Amino acid sequence: MLSRPWWGLLWRLGALFAAAALAGWRLFDHALLGLLIALAGALFWQLWRLSQLERWLLDDREARAPPSGRIWEGIVAGIGRLRRQNRKRKRKFGRLLEQFQRATAALPDAAVILDEEDKVFWCNGASQALLGLTPGRDIGLPVANLLRHPSFVAFLNQRRASDSVEFPSPVDDGLMLGARIVPCGKKQRLLLATDISRVRRLEQMRRDFIANVSHELRTPLTVVIGYLETLLDSDNPALESWRRPLRGMRQQAARMMHLIEDLLMLARLEAQKDRAPKKPVAVPALLADIADDALALSGEQGHEIRLLIDAEVWILGCEQELRSAFSNLVFNAVRYTPAGGEIEIRWSADENGIRLAVEDNGEGIAAHHIPRLSERFYRVNRDRSRGSGGTGLGLSIVKHVLSNHGGQLRISSELGKGSLFVCEFPAGLRVRAATAPERASVFESAPAPVPPAPNAGEA
Ligand code: ADP
Repeated sequence: MLSRPWWGLLWRLGALFAAAALAGWRLFDHALLGLLIALAGALFWQLWRLSQLERWLLDDREARAPPSGRIWEGIVAGIGRLRRQNRKRKRKFGRLLEQFQRATAALPDAAVILDEEDKVFWCNGASQALLGLTPGRDIGLPVANLLRHPSFVAFLNQRRASDSVEFPSPVDDGLMLGARIVPCGKKQRLLLATDISRVRRLEQMRRDFIANVSHELRTPLTVVIGYLETLLDSDNPALESWRRPLRGMRQQAARMMHLIEDLLMLARLEAQKDRAPKKPVAVPALLADIADDALALSGEQGHEIRLLIDAEVWILGCEQELRSAFSNLVFNAVRYTPAGGEIEIRWSADENGIRLAVEDNGEGIAAHHIPRLSERFYRVNRDRSRGSGGTGLGLSIVKHVLSNHGGQLRISSELGKGSLFVCEFPAGLRVRAATAPERASVFESAPAPVPPAPNAGEA
């Protein structure tokens, strides 16, 4: 519906055109000529008003007067209202922007917005201290040209929001940074970097402390064990009544030694982290040795230990670490499987990876324990573990060894039925056997498929 001023304008134009047509007819004998002159006049008049409106709109100081007239007054009032609302909004956004800038400037972490081509779009003050980025200079430059550490560049390209990366600050080598990249808006990404030097220093102190204490304890303990052995070997009749306590002391001392060895192994694994030299390891022969040791451990319990091994599959890795991890799994199977139980060791590879499976039909593990099994000193049954000579560090060592080889440990188990521990290694670590296996008689080359077990988890 038209408003009243518009009706008024239409009436006035109608009257003007009618008068012009009449005048044209009277003066020139042509009503259309009069109408045409009136239309041109009206058009010129409205164009003049439009140009006045344009000049008024473009004048930021608002020194010019807007076009007058009832229609134009309504339009000018509407535009004025929008202008005022706009100014209000601008002030509000200005205040918000100020607050945001103050907050990001106070942020101790570096925050950098990257555009879809991973160029720096914006960065906060802390980016200068932590990443060496200068807002004025580096905006628009590819971040990979500014932060060139290989770990960071690889992380930037992999585009997985869930991961994080650690790398030394380009400003100060002593600063260790932890960085994450998260999606931000439709095509941008937000890079967040935190100084984690203190946490890393504390972790290093903890590791050094454990390694040093373990090392310092080992020497006196070796001496104590040596004296106990000498006393137990002696046939002095005066020692006869002491034999039982001496045996108990030797057993406990051996347990302590085992614990110290495991702690030192863990410290070594953490210190080496991906840096242990990797060589082709003849895993089939290694597993045959471990199976022999497991038979010795089983002794009179008479476990049946089966080896299903692809003799052609060797792996690129650290032999000492792999021996420790695999023997922990196999010895656990012996220790947690009742006498006469069955243990199967399978070694195989396909295009998806290389796999060691150790399966037993022993006591099994309840589902809620599985995710925590590889934590240090986590045991399902403390007394049971101690009684069988466990330190509570075995699976933790397995997990570290696997992580140093880019692999992972999967555990599935059912209480009372048995357990299955699977070490998965990337297919890229596979190497062909260099020589014919020495212990071919114990190998069968077709590995059995790994059956899924009801309680499964990743440790
Ligand atoms: P421990 O020295 O106590 O054996 P581990 O880290 O090797 O420590 O194992 C942690 C716990 O996992 C053990 O205490 C045991 O309860 C459970 N466990 C490990 N292997 C098996 C298995 N094959 N069958 C049943 N339980 C197992």
